[in-house]
Amino acid sequence: MLRTHTCGELRITNVSQTVTISGWVQGVRDKGALLWIDLRDRYGITQITIETDKADQQIIDTARLLGREFVISVTGKVTERYSKSDKIETGDIEITPHTIVVLNTSITPPFTIEDQTDGGDELRMKYRYLDLRRNPVRQNLELRHRMAIETRLFLDKLNFMEVETPVLIKSTPEGARDFVVPSRMNPGEFYALPQSPQTFKQLLMVGGFDRYYQIVKCFRDEDLRADRQPEFTQIDCEMAFIEQEDILNTFEALTRHLFKTVKGIDIPELSRMTYADAMQQYGNDKPDIRFEMKFVELKNLTLGSGSPLLWQGAGGEAFKVFNDAQLVVGICAKGASEYSRKQLDELTEFVKRPQIGATGLVYARYNTDGTIKSSVDKFFNEQDLKNWATAFNAQPGDLMLIMAGEINKTRKALSELRLEMGNRLGLRDKNKFSAHWVIDFPMFEFNEEANRWFAMHHPFTSPKPEDLNLLNSGNLEGLGGVCANAYDLVINGVEIGGGSIRIHDKELQSKIFSILGFTKEDAQAQFGFLMNAFEFGAPPHGGIAFGFDRLCSLFGGADGIRDFIAFPKNNSGRDVMIDSPSLISQEQLNELNLIVKG
Ligand code: ASP
Repeated sequence: MLRTHTCGELRITNVSQTVTISGWVQGVRDKGALLWIDLRDRYGITQITIETDKADQQIIDTARLLGREFVISVTGKVTERYSKSDKIETGDIEITPHTIVVLNTSITPPFTIEDQTDGGDELRMKYRYLDLRRNPVRQNLELRHRMAIETRLFLDKLNFMEVETPVLIKSTPEGARDFVVPSRMNPGEFYALPQSPQTFKQLLMVGGFDRYYQIVKCFRDEDLRADRQPEFTQIDCEMAFIEQEDILNTFEALTRHLFKTVKGIDIPELSRMTYADAMQQYGNDKPDIRFEMKFVELKNLTLGSGSPLLWQGAGGEAFKVFNDAQLVVGICAKGASEYSRKQLDELTEFVKRPQIGATGLVYARYNTDGTIKSSVDKFFNEQDLKNWATAFNAQPGDLMLIMAGEINKTRKALSELRLEMGNRLGLRDKNKFSAHWVIDFPMFEFNEEANRWFAMHHPFTSPKPEDLNLLNSGNLEGLGGVCANAYDLVINGVEIGGGSIRIHDKELQSKIFSILGFTKEDAQAQFGFLMNAFEFGAPPHGGIAFGFDRLCSLFGGADGIRDFIAFPKNNSGRDVMIDSPSLISQEQLNELNLIVKG
């Protein structure tokens, strides 16, 4: 070996030992009489000190020729440092070298290999192997490794078996867009890369492997965001002979195990919230419940007060925006009554951005002197506003923010505003974790554009038995009311996992396909293998998949997942380091029977 110790290992107890360490030159400082080299590897930094009046000329000459990122091996004596450093773990010692061997030189790196680098994103990605030498990126990957190990240990103890499923599979029309791979041996035909091992893990249940997991790559050809990559990793799991409750308990335990072993945190028992409540109270199916700020519906409040359905404030004049709205709903931002006009304008601009698309924002300040002033004072008098405050359970010092309009759109917009206020008021601390389940998802959602029902989770999800009559009624309108045995694990407002109890009955599965617009023939052609398998004694089963990259980035306190992936792609799905995707030769195209247009 070219080393006896790593660069992070030596301590005061090693003083007077002769050691060899190897690594990259972080930097050289030359003060004439003294020359220092900081040598770095994955484990830390060790200082090498050369006293030029005592050292061999050859050592001094070699040291003076070193540049950043040269790879060297140093043999020498560990000595106690005269001035110690508490910034690095090896700060009590230094090495007085006998020999320095240059193992390789380096050209000047395009950015500094420091925690705070001067390299921009593109540059870091192009030279990712240099970026990986930086502490923050390395630590993220170490965290990822630890998470994977702990997941495996935990699941193995519970008899889960890791089974690999194929990567070259079949394209199906449901879900996201597939990445496809042409088959040379079958001209004109294509494999698809799996969006998840869903059908295979179900077939493993039919095959008797009653507890399966896999830390597995999945591929989806979707538009990218900070928390999305075209290839990503799931902790994919499936269990047979279980009910929803068993899945929730097992994977709550996995979640707690990871928090405990990786972060040293005991998280409280996970609460559960129905999808309907999540939407009504937070306007979001993955609410961030690190902070309260629940939605308060104001329109309903007026219904019971004897006033007509119209909101006609005691001020006399009707406020059309509220009166015409399906929903009037707001949040109460604690302690924000002193928001300036400018800050309130910013919030209005925020909700009016095209991504959110609201038409406006009404506010009412509950001042610390007990008065309430709103942006709609013209329509509502003090008593009206007091009634709002009661509904919001607002105290003097609070700010009420209200939106109105079509139900779903308004909830969605207010949810964005709630998260923004959470950020502004410092309520979304990255070191605080709040995990919970969202359950009872609807089975279907209607897509206006396609003018048909889609499976909200996926087509293999089982409806709740009590809603089977709705499903069988033949009334398409009623499908929106069918609930699924489907659940999501949400941590800090991020959907970390999702799964469902599956259908294991051929008839029911075929019925769901027909609701989703498949003809019998199409369903058979696409998913016949699964439905056929159900005829051979398929056990009741269900499962879940965790987004592993997201889970790691959440544990690491980051927003994006890129720095938790060794070699990620950029926002256009490109790997700028290896320059992929790329053109292929005409010869390859011919072999694959592909014609490239234009
Ligand atoms: N295969 C599903 C997904 O990728 C997860 C599951 O239902 O287990 O979202």
